[in-house]
Amino acid sequence: MRLVLLGPPGAGKGTQASNLAAHLGVPHISTGDMFREAAASGTELGALVSSYMESGGLVPDDVTISVVRRRLSLEDCGMGFILDGFPRTLPQARALDETLEEMDATLDAVVNISVPDEVLVRRSSGRRTCSRCGRTYHLEYDPPEREGLCDDCGGELVHRSDDREETVLQRLHVYGERTAPLVDYYRSRSLLRTVDGDSSIDEVFERIRSALEAAPE
Ligand code: ADP
Ligand code: ADP
Ligand code: ZN
Repeated sequence: MRLVLLGPPGAGKGTQASNLAAHLGVPHISTGDMFREAAASGTELGALVSSYMESGGLVPDDVTISVVRRRLSLEDCGMGFILDGFPRTLPQARALDETLEEMDATLDAVVNISVPDEVLVRRSSGRRTCSRCGRTYHLEYDPPEREGLCDDCGGELVHRSDDREETVLQRLHVYGERTAPLVDYYRSRSLLRTVDGDSSIDEVFERIRSALEAAPE
């Protein structure tokens, strides 16, 4: 299964992608996670991307596209993948089409998780991210067993600096300008499934599963 999860920051893409990946047995590929890992380990890529991320802007397309192309060429993507947070611009969507064509593959579906802006702000302000493995929690909606520590690896949970309210508002603006047009792009290719993401994590997971069995919009 080759899936793209589309949706504004805080919609639940990472949470659902991780559950779907476990369910479908395919890798979860998050460009945000890859960039944060690069920034934390101080690589050249990390130095390049961190200022864009800090400001709530997008990493340039050429950088992002080459990172994803390399990732999709790895063997574990042979049975499929779940892309979370890529593509985010029309040039990225076209580059993905080309890459898939070279792989002789096609997307099965694009799931668009829709959530009202005020809910997105609450989700980002309560989001806590494991500084070691990247797993995401929410102080209220999805808390860890031990306060401040990751259930999976014991790592310290941090509030992402780009999850401050003013940066979240900037990211929502960027989403509207650069990413929202992808909804039409994928609808016109008969790949789009829109799911109401304003419900519990488990309920949204069930909605995605039924949307994947239904016909595209
Ligand atoms: P969220 O899921 O909250 O939107 P991500 O973890 O996906 O956040 O992304 C964090 C940041 O990483 C983005 O604000 C952006 O700066 C950068 N980023 C992630 N994916 C992309 C992409 N496909 N294109 C450009 N920048 C990206
Ligand atoms: P995205 O990858 O789209 O930015 P995340 O999956 O990181 O979104 O979710 C954003 C925050 O909201 C996290 O703190 C997560 O635990 C929480 N969250 C995700 N889905 C839901 C949901 N359906 N209900 C309540 N909180 C959620
Ligand atoms: Zn962890």
